[in-house]
Amino acid sequence: MDFKKYIEDIKDFPEEGIIFRDVTPLLKDKEAYKESIDTFAKWIDGLGVQVDVVAGPEARGFLFGCPVAYKVNAGFVPVRKPGKLPRETVSASYDLEYGKNEVHIHADSIKPGENVVIIDDLLATGGTVEATIQLVEQLGGKVVGIAFLIELEALKGREKLKDYNVYSVLTY
Ligand code: IMP
Repeated sequence: MDFKKYIEDIKDFPEEGIIFRDVTPLLKDKEAYKESIDTFAKWIDGLGVQVDVVAGPEARGFLFGCPVAYKVNAGFVPVRKPGKLPRETVSASYDLEYGKNEVHIHADSIKPGENVVIIDDLLATGGTVEATIQLVEQLGGKVVGIAFLIELEALKGREKLKDYNVYSVLTY
């Protein structure tokens, strides 16, 4: 399927000079959404390991990660901004152009040795996914795969992920 037909390019959002890739038209289209989830799941099947957990960063990582987890018979672990998770968490921070961001997961959400796939809508600089990997590995989880709907190749996020099996459904 030509998924790009369902991605809207929004100029100067959220700031001037940024082209925002908006996935909401794809989510809205029942065939495109289903096929995108099936595409992730097929890639995970090809890894040849039983995945215990799909971890997805808020908020768009939930939109793809949850249905994929259901489809591959895995659990889902949300990766969230500070102050959102109610129980004990572990955290990792990463640099932004201006300032820092922090992500958290529940400290008991991943058990040592569990196989984890990380899913997000989009790979840009790779900061978000790198911090997510740190969270999973702090808890002893094994990152067996990382998948994105969209990869922005010019931002070279993949260079931060050399040690991992990385897949993107679409590249720009
Ligand atoms: P990174 O940390 O620079 O790789 O940015 C990736 C994160 O920012 C992901 O969680 C995305 O949801 C979000 N993001 C960055 N740019 C876009 C975009 O153009 N469309 C949708 N999400 C984006």
